[in-house]
Amino acid sequence: MFNPQTLKKDFPIFTHRPDLVYLDSAATALKPQMVIDAEQEYLEQHSTNIARGLYPLAEQTTEKFEKARETVARFIGAQSPQEIVFTSGTTASINLVAQLLEHGILPGQNIVVTEMEHHSNFLPWKELAARKNIEFRIAPIDADERIDLAALAKLVDRETAIVAFSAVSNVLGTINPVQEITAQVKQKNSQALVLVDAAQAIAHIPIDVTEWDADFIAFSAHKAFGPTGVGVLYGKQALLETLSPVTFGGGMVLDACAPTTLYQAIPTRFEAGTPNIGGVIALGAALDYISATSLADIRLHELSLIEYAVQKLQETFRDTIRIIGPQSIQERSGIIAFTLANIHPHDIAHLLGEQNICVRAGEHCTAPLHRALGLSATTRISFSIYNTEQDVDRLVDELKKIVLLLK
Ligand code: PLP
Repeated sequence: MFNPQTLKKDFPIFTHRPDLVYLDSAATALKPQMVIDAEQEYLEQHSTNIARGLYPLAEQTTEKFEKARETVARFIGAQSPQEIVFTSGTTASINLVAQLLEHGILPGQNIVVTEMEHHSNFLPWKELAARKNIEFRIAPIDADERIDLAALAKLVDRETAIVAFSAVSNVLGTINPVQEITAQVKQKNSQALVLVDAAQAIAHIPIDVTEWDADFIAFSAHKAFGPTGVGVLYGKQALLETLSPVTFGGGMVLDACAPTTLYQAIPTRFEAGTPNIGGVIALGAALDYISATSLADIRLHELSLIEYAVQKLQETFRDTIRIIGPQSIQERSGIIAFTLANIHPHDIAHLLGEQNICVRAGEHCTAPLHRALGLSATTRISFSIYNTEQDVDRLVDELKKIVLLLK
């Protein structure tokens, strides 16, 4: 039975800081004991490199590392662990794809992104377009702050090389219809490659890459209760096999002396150098933790919190609060960004912080989105499994005091 009060006990930070109200899981999720144990166990008891050593300890480490790859593949419904490339995070995964595809981009082609992208899924494409001197197209959001699907469809044409969009917006909370968008893109241009930024989806909604049919998917471990410095790039096997590595070094080569260097099979070919071994093993534990908790229950819990919070914020602050993102709760993940009574979001976040309530303020790495909304900054709260209605009550009580103090 899903119970946030019980789940909270899995997160040692609440033992150290019983008063903490953590409403910033979209920035990074807190870590359960199981994940901390997995990383610690590697550091204390294995501590060896992967793939190179022939002694049992190194072989065990390789086994644990590859087991984590299998866990990731299973978690997102990939066809094979070979489709999982470990990186240092979502940002690194998306930049890697941009580098991998650069060579094949032709004059006259274009790249399409959306207005709601995090800078990590905006700038690598903007830069790639600039390097290749091709068009960089930005699909707008509609009046309900969802991707304008009709406008997106118009931007995709026979010259489109890549379409990149997020599964869940890190500001609006919008859950985008990934499967529908991918199908729409492929219908207009079956050669166009689709990348989905799943950073805000991975720990909040079930993902099935086979259903999504996207060519690439990127996410970070740390937003899914795992450690920082680890990320995943999923790529369709047949596609990854056509791509040449862009980072060179140890571990990814078969024959470095051959006139034309021979590289390892996928995914190893894209993982030059020693990876974050303990971090990858801990990511496996984090995904096991989510599976044991049940993503369906996590989603229901976050939906009920969003509903409670939106209602309470609107009732309390009426026309002085502007909550951005879709009106329909069902279309939102556990993120609410808002402006309140002309008070600067930095002041709100600072004063809440003094009361041990952690929220995020600013542009949240989405300058194009904030510009489209006519806003310079917002305050963002984001939920995870350890949040409760009491957290929302404390937030609203403190916000009331802030409004009285600063309005
Ligand atoms: N994409 C989205 C939607 C995000 O919310 C974030 C982080 O906030 C990122 C990409 C970048 O993730 P990372 O900093 O872990 O690479």
